[in-house]
Amino acid sequence: MDKDATLLGRLEAIVGRQQVLTSDADTAPHLIDWRRYFQGRALAVVRPGTTAEVAAVVRACRDAGTPIVAQGGNTGHCGGSVPDASGTAIVLALTRLNRVRAIDVANATLTVEAGMTLAAVQEAAAGSGMYFPLSLAAEGSATIGGNIATNAGGTAVLRFGNARELVLGLEVVLADGQVWNGLRSLRKDNTGYDLKQLFIGAEGTLGIITAAVLKLFAPPRTQATAFAALPDPAAAVALLSRLKRALGDRLTGFELMAALPVALSRKAMPALPDPLPGHPWYALVQADDTAPDAPLPTVVEAALAAAIEAGEARDVAIAQSGEQAKALWTLRENIADAQRQEGPNIKHDISLPVSHIPAFIAEAETALRAAFPGVRFVTFGHLGDGNLHYNLSAPEGTPPKDFMTGTAAANRIVHDLVAAHGGSISAEHGIGQAKRDELLRYKDPLEIALMKSIKATLDPAGILNPGKILHRT
Ligand code: FAD
Ligand code: ZN
Repeated sequence: MDKDATLLGRLEAIVGRQQVLTSDADTAPHLIDWRRYFQGRALAVVRPGTTAEVAAVVRACRDAGTPIVAQGGNTGHCGGSVPDASGTAIVLALTRLNRVRAIDVANATLTVEAGMTLAAVQEAAAGSGMYFPLSLAAEGSATIGGNIATNAGGTAVLRFGNARELVLGLEVVLADGQVWNGLRSLRKDNTGYDLKQLFIGAEGTLGIITAAVLKLFAPPRTQATAFAALPDPAAAVALLSRLKRALGDRLTGFELMAALPVALSRKAMPALPDPLPGHPWYALVQADDTAPDAPLPTVVEAALAAAIEAGEARDVAIAQSGEQAKALWTLRENIADAQRQEGPNIKHDISLPVSHIPAFIAEAETALRAAFPGVRFVTFGHLGDGNLHYNLSAPEGTPPKDFMTGTAAANRIVHDLVAAHGGSISAEHGIGQAKRDELLRYKDPLEIALMKSIKATLDPAGILNPGKILHRT
């Protein structure tokens, strides 16, 4: 029997025959990424149901020298969750690891398996009268393991931080199949190196996350959601500062959107509202308070009225009901999907010091207009975190595919400016295979060398998601 057939037999013995998928129809959805940019091939898609099965699968693959690509909801934006075209890897699909292991309300912690969707994690917290704040548009299919492996951000980072800040402990299957039980639920634990941090944001290149202890919070009981029309990005930064002063950490979200992404979102979903038509920029503001009777709407209204007075906002609309608030958030969260429907576009997920964002936008628009006459800017993002989704669409009348030939030149303009402003070329989506070369170009060689030595220590045979983040060695 050849090596691959031997491995497949061993995998079937571990997880059961139905959980080793090999037909094209079964494997196809696992082999292309959400944006449909990266198409790979695999020996099989393997779906373990327990940590012990994950460990046994990893041991079998280690013995065979077979690469393993961990996959959760396959919603990642950098091609990290799909294998390369060689067909030699297995995809390790983790969605059957979907149980709540424990909830400790007094300790405000929730222990879950990695394959639970983010939405299911949020529901489990809510079911115990608690709140898990990580939130992003893909939460119905993205898994908590994938969120942790990409250190996902989303719409509540301003108040609660990235996935990294919400994780207290991890269970990880290492590259040799050993299980590291780091499921501690402690807020304080200074016992040497904080190993879990290595696996958070490692995109499946250092270990397979099988479970996590998450921080819970008191749920918001009073909420205010507002939409503001703004003259320019400088006004958005001024408004953000004003709202932080007025609201403190009750300001949970501050999203910036240019007029074009709002229009695209409405084009894809015409039932969405158009609260303040005719302005160049908009902000979506979310404020939450844990007290049921907090005077939050009054504080938000007063701050926004003062912002209009100061010229920071031109007009505002405050949601009058939960439905209206939800519709405003859908307007924002539908942008990624609306863009996908428009065809390929050149994406940048960048972060900058918030104070630099107006200058960055002005400089980038000038440089890009000169290089790509007629280019359309689909600029939006989590301004409160200094994170822009700085996406470029083809000029009217240019086929998107033709425009994509300018990707490398556009990346150079945008990322050089990001570097000049002290920013990052990946704020929340990670590196995967999409930004490997850009990482090499912009990261300090010393940091790349340290990253390579960590990879070599934890995965000496290089079987965990090879060629992601770092090039194969
Ligand atoms: P996958 O896509 O399956 O995998 C992502 C990476 O993690 C891969 O490298 C994979 O190998 C690795 N991985 C997955 N599971 C594990 C595991 N258990 N152990 C080890 N490695 C693992 N991201 C944001 O940060 N903020 C946003 O606001 C945001 N909005 C989005 C909106 C939409 C509509 C979509 C489609 C995506 C969005 N994303 C956003 C991208 C985001 O990275 C993912 O949605 C999510 O975090 C990935 O989870 P997943 O389960 O789909 O992971
Ligand atoms: Zn985002």
